[in-house]
Amino acid sequence: MTIEYAPLYVVPTPLGNLADISERARDALRAVFWVAAEDTRHSAPLLRHIGAKARLLPAHAHNENAAAQRVLAILARGESVALISDAGTPGISDPGARIVAHAHAAGARVIPLPGPCAAVTALSAAGFSEAQWLFFGFLPARSGQRRAALKTIAALPCALAFYEAPHRILESLTDMAEELGETRALLIAREISKQFETLQRLLLGEAAAWIAADPMRQKGEFTLIVSGATVSPADEGERLLRLFLAENLPIKQASKLAATLSGHSKNALYAQALEIRRQRTEQRTEKLPAGYESKLLRRFAPRF
Ligand code: SAM
Repeated sequence: MTIEYAPLYVVPTPLGNLADISERARDALRAVFWVAAEDTRHSAPLLRHIGAKARLLPAHAHNENAAAQRVLAILARGESVALISDAGTPGISDPGARIVAHAHAAGARVIPLPGPCAAVTALSAAGFSEAQWLFFGFLPARSGQRRAALKTIAALPCALAFYEAPHRILESLTDMAEELGETRALLIAREISKQFETLQRLLLGEAAAWIAADPMRQKGEFTLIVSGATVSPADEGERLLRLFLAENLPIKQASKLAATLSGHSKNALYAQALEIRRQRTEQRTEKLPAGYESKLLRRFAPRF
């Protein structure tokens, strides 16, 4: 016997201003039997405000698997569920992904509603011209790991979106300026849609001093949008070459593609590719015990 699951609605809720709830979100929250909420005490006033009478069940980061089982059992009884988080879109630096995954796996219909999301809202107000952007979410809490994470994305030419907690904003901005570069443009979007909403555009190198200048500027919720790394035309061939080599394309093909796309000399890029692969092999062999070196070289030899 196949089970007829009721649908799971994924419902964004306001970031700060209750008027930002959509008509569809309100209707869904009023219509469902159950609301799975990140913090039921936090969400109860919102549900009361819109006249939703659904039963609440907790679905937070620490019980997500158990909550997913419970949600599935409810859906299997034919009772619909709406998934919400404390604010914004569930699953975006918020719990929810596992519940959604379980619903998909069981064959239940997942119905996502468009709505508030701090990263998208901040991006819309950044005014940066990059066509691509990367949503990073929260950086690691410790400076060493945070800097390492920033290094991995420092060369990307797309805009970057981060979430940050108020008690880490100053040190994160300091690390960002050092790892991403002081001259990059930054939008600090603080307390979006709330009473003390602040949108400040400045350079990354100016940000820590701006935040430190007034204790009020360090309070509340922060979304940061950083402009992408600029690639000078002279570096474009090498940037593409490194990308293709990282994808393990053969050197000949990587240099040909990089030359076609950048307009740089194929022969020069081929020579550069040989050098990049040589350096990489050296780096790898340095870390291995002596006995492994020839084995490693043999393994990598066919690629040259
Ligand atoms: N799911 C949410 C969304 O769709 O935006 C994000 C949840 S995440 C746990 C919370 C973080 O989002 C905050 O620490 C802050 O970085 C960012 N955020 C949430 N509300 C915000 C607001 N009103 N203004 C600026 N950033 C906000």
